[in-house]
Amino acid sequence: MTIPSLSDYREVVGRNIVEELYILASHVGHRSIKMINSTAVGGGVAEMLHRIVPLLNELGVKANWEVIKGGDDFFDITKAFHNALQGKEESFQEEVFGTYLSYNEMNFRATDFEEDLIVVHDPQPAALIHWNKHRKNKWVWRCHIDMSHPNPQVWEFLRPFVEQYDAAIFSSPLFSPELTIPQYRFYPAIDPLADKNRELDDAYVNGVMAKYGIPRDKPIVAQISRYDPWKDPVGVIQAFKMARKHVDCRLLLVGDKAADDPEAEEILAKVRETVGDHREIHIVFLTTSIPTEINAFQRASDVILQKSLREGFALTVSEALWKFRPVIGSDVGGIPAQIIHGYTGMLVHSVEGASLQIRRLLNQPELARKLGKNGHKRVRDEFLITKILKRYLLLLLALDQADQNTIFLT
Ligand code: UDP
Repeated sequence: MTIPSLSDYREVVGRNIVEELYILASHVGHRSIKMINSTAVGGGVAEMLHRIVPLLNELGVKANWEVIKGGDDFFDITKAFHNALQGKEESFQEEVFGTYLSYNEMNFRATDFEEDLIVVHDPQPAALIHWNKHRKNKWVWRCHIDMSHPNPQVWEFLRPFVEQYDAAIFSSPLFSPELTIPQYRFYPAIDPLADKNRELDDAYVNGVMAKYGIPRDKPIVAQISRYDPWKDPVGVIQAFKMARKHVDCRLLLVGDKAADDPEAEEILAKVRETVGDHREIHIVFLTTSIPTEINAFQRASDVILQKSLREGFALTVSEALWKFRPVIGSDVGGIPAQIIHGYTGMLVHSVEGASLQIRRLLNQPELARKLGKNGHKRVRDEFLITKILKRYLLLLLALDQADQNTIFLT
């Protein structure tokens, strides 16, 4: 398949939206952006950058993307920071912060920062800015994680770095901590033309299910998400087991391992232990996922769960809604922005709640169909990649007006 260009989006999002992007881009001119994160594959951030960067280039913005480098010691630390910032209680030895900083310094020395705007994603590279004392360009910290209950030790360490930026972007107003710098809200978005989301024919979907040995004789309830404690795969299994006593169905868990995630196998072991020898629960662990296969798993599912305990946004929810699937999601992070309870999906607060909604949606196909249809429309209006392109263009314009008190980015 050829890589979609901006004109291909006209049919999906409407002509006016794409025209508007070109008009905004003409005001932005040939400015440049560098995106920096910590993994080229796996997880939602890499997923989005893969599309946003080429599309910004098509709009005339000179965008590039660099991935920082680090050893296992660095990624173990940043994973622990990530968990702590999402609320996990943990206390860190002083040398951990030293190791984090020395990798950031090493990456700083190995990279050019000539662009007009540097967007640093998440905590892993957040301290890069520290060595760029005399910058003339703008730096923005883009935080994708749920910072509503950050571990004080890690946050007190990171905050002075974050406050050196010109602005910070959060995925929800709920996550924004008090900062001395301006903050913007960007919802993440999905790409409707990516392999992960484009239409597939039934034969391919059937082929993928057969390849992984998952029978399609009963309705399928699925969670397709990394094996990570915050995604609560164990809670999903418990909810399924409760629902399964009342309604005949299968559970499909699919997850891969992000390159910067040393924890997946440990969680997977817990998952396997919770499943026991249940024959209607299917576990798929992918070292590298193939986007069309993820797409097929989502399309083969009758109900999709995202039972996260904490969440940045959960692209998986928009992906499922875009495919007209009824989604049951926890009321955390960016999920309630996507799921309007009872209208574009179901929000839950517990294993019992998830179990009840599984039963309800499998027993009431008309309700399930309605939620999927409304959900598709909500994603089309709010959570497609064209919206994010618009926000980056507006950000480039807004940063030029840094002395204004209020800037509305719609
Ligand atoms: N994903 C995938 N393979 C998997 C599980 C998830 O490709 O086995 C994708 C998923 O479709 C989504 C992204 O990884 O595009 C996960 O983004 P999300 O915001 O849901 O969560 P994150 O993993 O970034 O916390």
